[in-house]
Amino acid sequence: MPLGIALLGSTGSIGTQTLDILGRMPDRFRLVSIAARNRTDLLTRQVEQFQPEIVVARSGFTLDNRSVLPTPEGLIEAVSHPDVDIVVAATSGHDAIPAIIAAIEAGKIIAIANKEPIVCAGELIIPLARKHGAEIRPVDSEHSAIWQALRSGKNSEIHRLILTSSGGPFRNFDRAALQEVTVEQALKHPSWNMGKKLTIDSSSLMNKGLEVIEAHWLFDVPYDDIQVVIQPTSIIHSMVEFVDGSTIAQLSPPDMRLPIQYALTWPDRVPGPCAKLDFTTLRTLEFDLPDLDRFPALRLAYEAGRKGQTYPTVLSAVDEIAVEAFARGELSWIGIANLIETVLEKHDPRPVSSVETILHTDRWARETARSILPDLA
Ligand code: MG
Repeated sequence: MPLGIALLGSTGSIGTQTLDILGRMPDRFRLVSIAARNRTDLLTRQVEQFQPEIVVARSGFTLDNRSVLPTPEGLIEAVSHPDVDIVVAATSGHDAIPAIIAAIEAGKIIAIANKEPIVCAGELIIPLARKHGAEIRPVDSEHSAIWQALRSGKNSEIHRLILTSSGGPFRNFDRAALQEVTVEQALKHPSWNMGKKLTIDSSSLMNKGLEVIEAHWLFDVPYDDIQVVIQPTSIIHSMVEFVDGSTIAQLSPPDMRLPIQYALTWPDRVPGPCAKLDFTTLRTLEFDLPDLDRFPALRLAYEAGRKGQTYPTVLSAVDEIAVEAFARGELSWIGIANLIETVLEKHDPRPVSSVETILHTDRWARETARSILPDLA
């Protein structure tokens, strides 16, 4: 029997690559539920190809001869269907948090690709998953690499997690050059092809900062034991240094279909579409350390993660407002981190006791960011 899949966020970068994997392995997987908010023309074609039982889309979207549930309410039904074994959470933002909680309570496996649920709701979701024995499998390439490396040792044998970063397109820019950064420059990622938000987040290293918080929750490792190392060609996707001094790294050409496939087929490794490393052309692996003065977003993420409570929600929400403002030309690249730091300083934190706390904090952070924005522009 093929495993049933619920795919939340089918039209984004991770969603389309997940369907690419599912389409190649019809004997292993069957798409039970599909959900997308944007690019509904693509959603229509995906539904035609995969014939899922449940379709969730924004209200107003219709399909011939079938019912469509509205998002985000319909996401809970999409994950709770009895035929669903694995939920692939690839939506952006907080939309999927209630559905992820429902899936955990229903004992489903969660393959998590979107950062917000873990970054903002880790304090809520991770203990809940432990309580229900629900498996959370990482899809992000760095966390997949750590998860793969952890097959070499136990969690209690971890000395450090080493998250690798390409360093982004501005790795070698000095302060003066960073003042002048344009949107066009920020959208050119050296090794990965991703959505706009993620690409700009990679240029500021905020993406790596959010991944540090994610790693803290997923692997239960203190922030002091999570290090970020620059590896410009994105061949090493992350590493685990064990207490005996052994470091285990996962290497492959950058292709998100590999971690997606591994999250679906685990504990098996199966042949797939991803290219192998070519050691006739790969000559060197360079390393560097991130500069927290030039890339303050990474420092802010560590600080927000360490403080915990609702600080990571503020970090994530304000970053979204800042990146949108930067993309519209209303905020400088340097302004992204300035705006985040300013709002974080104004925040009065609370424990993350419910989804409502996160949504409330998220609204406060966005409103505060928007009100400060004109002063920073
Ligand atoms: Mg990543």
